[in-house]
Amino acid sequence: MDEFGLIEQYFRRPARRSEVVLGVGDDAALVALRGAQRTLAVTTDTLIEGVHFAAGAPGFDVGYKALAVNVSDLAAMGARPLAFLLNLSLPRIDPMWLAGFRDGLFTLADAVSLDLIGGDTVRGPLAITITALGTTAPGGALTRTGARAGDRVYVSGLLGEAALGLLARSGHLSLPSEFQAPVLARLDRPLPRIEEGQALVGIASSAIDVSDGLVADLGHVLKASGVGAEIDLRRLPLSRAYDAAFATVGYDPALVFGDDYELCFTVPPERTPALAGIAPRFACGFHYIGDIVAGRGLVLRNGQDIYAPARSGYNHFDG
Ligand SMILES: [Mg+2]
Repeated sequence: MDEFGLIEQYFRRPARRSEVVLGVGDDAALVALRGAQRTLAVTTDTLIEGVHFAAGAPGFDVGYKALAVNVSDLAAMGARPLAFLLNLSLPRIDPMWLAGFRDGLFTLADAVSLDLIGGDTVRGPLAITITALGTTAPGGALTRTGARAGDRVYVSGLLGEAALGLLARSGHLSLPSEFQAPVLARLDRPLPRIEEGQALVGIASSAIDVSDGLVADLGHVLKASGVGAEIDLRRLPLSRAYDAAFATVGYDPALVFGDDYELCFTVPPERTPALAGIAPRFACGFHYIGDIVAGRGLVLRNGQDIYAPARSGYNHFDG
């Protein structure tokens, strides 16, 4: 049983309250408060030492990333950040590490205007759980269910950068020195596409953030929307660092490694002019990589060939 099957089997239930517009199974839940002008978007993520980050990782990077993964889920809903709660399990009080953690956390919190409003601190193995709250216009959230045959599939920014950083740091890939710092920065300090997500409301028909890899995350959209997709690998947005590594690593880091925290979204053909209209505001760029098709499943085309990655994406409890 994988993590998604586990949630399906044990925890998915119909909502009892009419205020719960969208429950388990998207990037965030949506709660509409009666009479309110805005809908609440709620998401939570846990990072554990040795699983999500290396033992001994700098506090700054851990604090930044713990918040970034949550902010990225708000971005994927098209939500505006509001506030967050921090649950911290610490084996001991290490003032240096905690000061770094705080600085990393609040660097991103300030950048996206999120207030820390509560949480809990316990003694235990190093683990961080953050719950982030955002708001959307009622009915205005981006979800995974709206992709339709004929829509175009886009991704923001670059794919595979964080994977290259991980491969470089672990010694599995040697990159020219000028490329080292950029890919490590993308691994440690991802840039959640918060402004982009909000700008895509009313343009994108569906959206998800790329946390587990394009194949897995686009796969969630396809499943939730009941459609298939064809992706052209030659259209994947890859950096010059990626080009330098391509002969060694091939397409898989861009497809199945995850940690990019870019947005993958779909746009109906009639709304592509609107996308072109907002695109100049964002330096990351929006890249057309393929199309939604009728039927099921994801086809990766490499010219005339069909490509199959070595694995499908990161999944706790897999195998
Ligand atoms: Mg997500």
